Amino acid sequence: MTTIPPLDLTQQYKTIEQEVSTAVLDVLASGRYINGPLVDEFADQFGRYIGTEQCVVCNSGTDALYLALRAYDIGPGDEVITTAFTFIATAETISGVGAKPVFVDIELDSYNLAVDKLEAAICDRTRAIMPVHLSGRPVNMDAVMAVPKAHNLTVIEDCAQATGAEWNGQKVGSIGHAGCFSFFPSKNLGGCGDGGALTTNDADIAATAKMLREHGSKVRYYHDAIGVNSRLDAVQAAILQVKLPHLDQWNRQRQAVAERYSALLAPLPHIARPSEIEGGTSVWNQYTIRITAPNPAAESDSPNCRDRIREHMQQHGVSSMIYYPLPLHQQPVYADLGYGLGSLPNTELAATQVLSLPMFPELTAEQQTQVVYSLKDALAQIAGG
Ligand SMILES: *Cc1c(COP(=O)(O)O)cnc(C)c1O
Repeated sequence: MTTIPPLDLTQQYKTIEQEVSTAVLDVLASGRYINGPLVDEFADQFGRYIGTEQCVVCNSGTDALYLALRAYDIGPGDEVITTAFTFIATAETISGVGAKPVFVDIELDSYNLAVDKLEAAICDRTRAIMPVHLSGRPVNMDAVMAVPKAHNLTVIEDCAQATGAEWNGQKVGSIGHAGCFSFFPSKNLGGCGDGGALTTNDADIAATAKMLREHGSKVRYYHDAIGVNSRLDAVQAAILQVKLPHLDQWNRQRQAVAERYSALLAPLPHIARPSEIEGGTSVWNQYTIRITAPNPAAESDSPNCRDRIREHMQQHGVSSMIYYPLPLHQQPVYADLGYGLGSLPNTELAATQVLSLPMFPELTAEQQTQVVYSLKDALAQIAGG
């Protein structure tokens, strides 16, 4: 029995090994390890790829979100509307600048924040909306951008899982006021370490983010604000520069994998497949299904149906992931926000039902058949499918 991992970064590396090692060795020989022309060059290339006039690279996607919030002067007393069905960094950075995250529920078919719930969440403290393009699937940005006009809000897109995704032919990260990207290894464009970028068309915001990234200084050793140290290493910039020209091809391979899954899964009972997003182009950082089988164990302490199916698949050599088992409004760290059980029903339901199947560009059709076979078998054993 062969084992299928949720993702495999070694296969991609093998295809570009020579280019990457040459680029890294050049950096090592150059003596320019922090900032410098290569980092600036990559920032320009990434900004051009996304389609914004400005791009500020930094140490992580988390830092990109933090720098964006700081650059827009969002802080204590302010509220930012976002989703609870995301990685902690989205809300953590809102809290990190002293503002308050306000969670709206998700759409069950896309797992993205429900755009029709935004308006009702706005109050006079609201400063920004932070949509998350979860799993590489774009939020309806027309609907999002229609909201801030009347309320003078800033839209900061969390594009960490969606590098290359499009809404109406425009790359995510170029539609809101700012876009925040992660180059964490498992993201669509991943380095060999941490990295991130902030994209915007606003030159003042970019200059402020750059200043904050360099300890709040524009001129070295003169400090205008309390900043952070968040630069992109030249080694990472060199690796990302090699990988960027391949990104569209890798995203197309992910799209082909998603299409094959959707076809293979169609006949299976109790499975909700990810929907088409009309107007959007997804880049499938994850392929996430919901297991909708009746779930008598859900009320008890025993593992729910989804967890037992996951375990069964694991025993048959197929690793899957749960993004995310505990939504942010139910995390201990956010208990003080006072969201009760049932306050975000779709989010809470999704957390008990979602399962992300193995997804990476090099996944073969044979491997996908094995994944779906193990799921089918698990359903038959556990859900009577
Ligand atoms: C990965 C991720 C981040 C944070 O990116 P890092 O580079 O790991 O700091 C933020 N938001 C979402 C939705 C993510 O998936």
